[in-house]
Amino acid sequence: MSEFWNSRIKKLSPYVPGEQPKDRQIIKLNTNENPYPPSPKVIEAIKNAAGERLRLYPDPECATFREAAAARYGVKPQQVFAGNGSDEILAFAFGAFFESGEKAAQILFPDITYSFYPVYANLWDIPYRTIALAEDFSINIADYKIPLGGGGTCGGVIFPNPNAPTGVAVTLDDILSLAEFLEKQEKVLIVDEAYIAFSGAPNAKSAVRSINNHPNLLTVHTLSKSASLAGLRFGFAIGNEKLIEGLCRVRDSFNSYTLDFLALTGAAAAVSDTAYYDEITNRVIATRDRTAGALRNLGFTVLPSSANFLFVKPPRISGAELFAALRRRGILVRHFNKDRIADYLRVSIGTDEHMDKVLEACREIMSN
Ligand code: PMP
Repeated sequence: MSEFWNSRIKKLSPYVPGEQPKDRQIIKLNTNENPYPPSPKVIEAIKNAAGERLRLYPDPECATFREAAAARYGVKPQQVFAGNGSDEILAFAFGAFFESGEKAAQILFPDITYSFYPVYANLWDIPYRTIALAEDFSINIADYKIPLGGGGTCGGVIFPNPNAPTGVAVTLDDILSLAEFLEKQEKVLIVDEAYIAFSGAPNAKSAVRSINNHPNLLTVHTLSKSASLAGLRFGFAIGNEKLIEGLCRVRDSFNSYTLDFLALTGAAAAVSDTAYYDEITNRVIATRDRTAGALRNLGFTVLPSSANFLFVKPPRISGAELFAALRRRGILVRHFNKDRIADYLRVSIGTDEHMDKVLEACREIMSN
């Protein structure tokens, strides 16, 4: 605390990201990074871009990237927004589409979800209400349909699909029915598709293909997970042109150039190389499903995952104990000390070799 901070900054409780240990020997399965390298075409594009051109500002319109993403997803470039990580886009989206102040209607998101959402809501002074996940940790879409009239209305809805840290996905039909419901109330639905690539046959559950039918539906994407580019800091959103224009208004009131030339060049190459990325995504999915089966055989509760991580509860010992025992064996996973999930750990999917080490460690810990 400092007397020089204004009252708004004093009230913030910022998000705390997963640890980035200096020790390279650690098997790092705590921030859902991809264990495989980025596409060689991305590296080559960035190397070629690292030259005299850096003298100039990057393109504030991000045209090359937006065209590449539009071609990849079958949308128009004006329906694509690029940001410095999807975190930045989420921050802009809260500012652009949800109302602030005591009198504003509450926005809704799950009680167990990406813990950055309440941070953005507080930053922008947006009132919110959390909706409990069902007993099996799934999102019950009916709970988000608050009718107009006596029961009031909500200020908008956001959740990840698949959800994090549970990995549990919602069906596309459910998402579209909620988008339709909210459209009648002139409210926005943001679907954070950070992990959608891991949900099966190319983005089977993605809502991207439905944005032309739902002007209030914004889908948010990241290159940090499936494109193996967490270090590049690049995210993008796809939605109706007017939503994208809203995001641009917020961005251009902060910083006209949130993305540098190297990132823009690398990102355009990444969204264009579907062959490479489909292959590593399928590898991660196969490793995930094999690991889930092996952990269930050890007596773990393993939630059905559509993401590149597993949310697991060990038999007999607590989540905190297992976290500490894995850490002592050089394996770093994520533990959230929160109601309902304190006995669970989120384990990112690494290579087959990494996951064999995890399984071996779990067997040993459980037999003690
Ligand atoms: N959404 C969800 C659900 C996430 O788990 C993450 C990663 N922490 C993000 C968004 C942000 O990803 P990035 O800023 O790296 O694009």
